[in-house]
Parts: sequence; C-alpha cells; structure tokens
Amino acid sequence: MASDDGDIHLRWMQAAMDMAEEALEAKEVPVGCVFVRGDKIIARARNRTNQLRNATRHAELEAIDEILANKELTPVVTQYPLSDTTLYVTVEPCIMCASALRQMGIKEVYYGCDNDRFGGCGSVLGVHSVLPHPKHEGYDAHGGYLRDEAIMILRRFYITENTNAPVPKSKANRVLKTEIPSRSSPRPQS
Ligand SMILES: [Zn+2]
Repeated sequence: MASDDGDIHLRWMQAAMDMAEEALEAKEVPVGCVFVRGDKIIARARNRTNQLRNATRHAELEAIDEILANKELTPVVTQYPLSDTTLYVTVEPCIMCASALRQMGIKEVYYGCDNDRFGGCGSVLGVHSVLPHPKHEGYDAHGGYLRDEAIMILRRFYITENTNAPVPKSKANRVLKTEIPSRSSPRPQS
C-alpha cells in the first residue's frame, strides 16, 4: 500500500537524519545519508569535508567509497555497482554527487530538502536524468522526505560560529528562524 511505502521512506530518512546529527556534533555541514539494499542499510555516512580538509568528502561519496571497498557488498567490479541500491540523503545531492550516483547506476534517490545553490537533481541542474548522457541512464529522485527537519538542522549549523572560517564573524545576534516556506513544487506522493 502506498502509505506503507511512505512510512518506509521516512524510516530510512530518519536514519539519514541521525547521521546528519552526528555531522552537526562534529561541526560539519549537517548532511547525512544511508544506502539501502534489500530492505537493509548497507552503508551510512555523513559529511566530513572539514575533518578531512577535502571538499569532495560529501556524505554520498563517503558511503560509496565504503560500499566499493567492502568485498561482501561489492564482490565483483561491475559497471553499475549500485543498480540494486537506493540512497536516502537529507539534502538534495549536489551536482558532483548527482553525477557520481548516475555513473554508479544508483537505482533511486530520496532526499529531504532542496539544495538551492548546488542541487544536481533538478534545483540547479538535472544531472540525475534531465541532462542527456551517452552511456549512463538517468535515475529518479524524489524530494520532501523529512524536509523541515533537514532545513532546521542546516539552520542550526549556520547560526553557530563557524570556527573554521578564515575570518570568524560574530553571529551572536542571529536568531534561529523556525518558519519554513512551502515548496514551490508539490510534495512527493507517498
Ligand atoms: Zn555532494
């Protein structure tokens, strides 16, 4: 039944949100994800760009590295190692990750909030399926799962002092906004 499907998506997204909370505690931009195969989480990861001083260390790529390096999860090298794997990530994958996921043949993607600045699943570029590619087929991406929670955890991060910034700016007077505008596009059907 459709509503049961929706519950399952929210359950996996909650697991991704737990990873985003872990990122927040580590003072990273709070984005988390899980990869699900056969009704089981096979990898969970979160953003580690500050810790590793590497701007490519987004949650999705961290998890993909883990899956490919694990011989039980990836026994043989194939062109599309994620063709039976679904991604749940708290924020729409960026252009870089959206492209990597396509090259890995990801089955499907569910995400929380839109990524208005870098989104590669439609917000900035439709890397997931709209842009033609001579070789890699596109994949479906569905947004809006735990969207408000995904937005709020990002706000909680950005309102605190960013000690990694070259010139720390005082944000002491900033107030955490709790009002969330609704999406321009319709919410996903569950
Ligand atoms: Zn990314």
